[in-house]
Amino acid sequence: MSGDKPATRLVHAGRRPEWTHGVVNPPVYRASTCLFETLDAYEAASRNPDAGLYYGRRGTPTTWALAEALTEMEPGAAGTHLFPSGVAAIAAVLLAATSSGGHVLMADNVYEPTRLMAKSILAQIGVETEFYDPTNHESLPERIRGNTQAIYMESPGSLTFEVQDVPAIAALARARGILSILDNTWATPLLFPAIRHGVDLSVQSLTKYVVGHSDALMGSVTAAPDAWQNLRNTALRLGQTAAPDDCALALRGLRTLAVRMERHGKTALALAQALAAHPAVERVICPGLPGDPGHALWTRDFSGYASLFAIALKPGSREALAACVDNLRHFGMGFSFGGYESLVLPVKPMRTVTRWQTEGPMLRIHCGLEDADDLIADMKNGLDRYAG
Ligand SMILES: *Cc1c(COP(=O)(O)O)cnc(C)c1O
Repeated sequence: MSGDKPATRLVHAGRRPEWTHGVVNPPVYRASTCLFETLDAYEAASRNPDAGLYYGRRGTPTTWALAEALTEMEPGAAGTHLFPSGVAAIAAVLLAATSSGGHVLMADNVYEPTRLMAKSILAQIGVETEFYDPTNHESLPERIRGNTQAIYMESPGSLTFEVQDVPAIAALARARGILSILDNTWATPLLFPAIRHGVDLSVQSLTKYVVGHSDALMGSVTAAPDAWQNLRNTALRLGQTAAPDDCALALRGLRTLAVRMERHGKTALALAQALAAHPAVERVICPGLPGDPGHALWTRDFSGYASLFAIALKPGSREALAACVDNLRHFGMGFSFGGYESLVLPVKPMRTVTRWQTEGPMLRIHCGLEDADDLIADMKNGLDRYAG
């Protein structure tokens, strides 16, 4: 298995005949109570509750299959815990990695709810978060303090797509006895196997590419061996578990992840390139294109492009922006990404220690599975309306 290429592993991962009795996909086990036939069996299960069925919250063959598949997609990982959303996974990983009196270094371009988690719940329990410039990791060694417990990265970053030198930051963290955490939602382990690159805790919003059809919310944390038991214990204490029907949807999505990502990536690069030349566009923010500040690192570390990029528009009125986005034929307007339908979203990135400024509005674009030519024509027409 481990010698096979990622697309092949996606097909086989997490499929154990003893969990499925020969059918291809694991049945959806809707379970709270699991019955023990004897006192002996009950006592044996209690001594080792992860050895088999114990209580629904700890998992069933449906959840095991998804968790094991995700672990197999992260070579070097010891295990994966599933969560009811990506945000729940982020909250748990931060609580697992920190304790009162601790200090966290967090990239200034993280997903907004991650920033809010740091500023609210972590602050309430006495954990200080210091944001750092994601484009300047040279400053990190001097920011590490005696009480620094974790470095939290997102690469490419939410909305603005800065690419960090994740292997270098993870190596720095490991050398200093600090946990490295990466929100790997943009790339998935398919385009960036984070644990193999030295990361201790790899977080995904499965809601996006793994589920892939905009019909379920779920999150995961995959952990390196040293970080696994503490992550698992913290998640169980928090009562975090994923619903079996959602796990079945995520498993279905996972099997086609490689073909979808290839199509998403090709279309995103074609659209980004096409829009770069449009007179309404100030600049395209897409590390997959030469000339982007993140291009060299992206080329070195990622095995493909995902579906997302952004465009900064030249200054224009709110009415012009509405004329653009209200009349698109193929791009829906809404949160999230990773589904089959293309999306557009006007965004305003939040910052604490760095500045992010564009003179005009900014649009984040998710390229779905439609034909690239149709998407290019639709978005060009939208930008023509914006330019008036
Ligand atoms: C969407 C997203 C999340 C949160 O995931 P949910 O499943 O919506 O809770 C976390 N991180 C990133 C980068 C995301 O895009």
